[in-house]
This record gives sequence, C-alpha cells and structure tokens, in this order.
Amino acid sequence: MKRRRSQKRELVLKALKAARGSLSAADIHKKVTKVDLTTIYRNLDMFVKDGMVKKLNLGDGEAQYEYNDHDHHHAICLDCDKVIHFTAPDQKIMELLKVKGFQPESLEITLRGVCKH
Ligand SMILES: [Zn+2]
Ligand SMILES: [Zn+2]
Repeated sequence: MKRRRSQKRELVLKALKAARGSLSAADIHKKVTKVDLTTIYRNLDMFVKDGMVKKLNLGDGEAQYEYNDHDHHHAICLDCDKVIHFTAPDQKIMELLKVKGFQPESLEITLRGVCKH
C-alpha cells in the first residue's frame, strides 16, 4: 500500500520534471491519468512544502506548479494567465540591494502585468 502511494508521487514529480515551464494540476492529470486529481493535489501540496516544487498563483486562474530545479523568476499576464519564465543575475540584484555581506538564500520575483497577446 505504502509503495503504491510513493509510486504515484514519483509519477507526479516526473511529469513536472519533464515539463518545460509550469503545469496546472489538471495538466498533470492529463499526463498521468492513472493518478486521480485529488491525489495529485495532495502530492503537489507535499512537494511545495518540501520546496521541491514551486506553486505559482495566477490570481483567478488555476494554480500552476513547476519543478524547482533552478532559480528563475516569473512574469504573469493578468489577462490571459500566460507565465513567462526569466532569469536575472543574482549579482545584479545584490548590487541593487546595496547591503554588504547579505547572504541570499532564495530569491523570487513575480512581475504582474498584461502581455501583448
Ligand atoms: Zn518558471
Ligand atoms: Zn496575456
């Protein structure tokens, strides 16, 4: 019983790892149809708590999830829920901070706006 549950966990994580960008729970369900949506949500919550997965809240839209493998940032369109993934050099951000010796642990930028769709 326990083994089966962890297998489902792996399937959900694998789908997220394979995706370029983010997926909603429903998107994941389409890829791993043998895992029901409730289980997917439960696993996603667990991954988010563990810091393995990032949850992106898009306001009214469905939450998007993505595998947290590298530090990057997001621009979110409030109109069409499009998510743009981009990187900003940490060095540059530390320069802007102007606090000597500050040790960054994590950095998250979310830009909200409207794209030219
Ligand atoms: Zn991203
Ligand atoms: Zn848009």
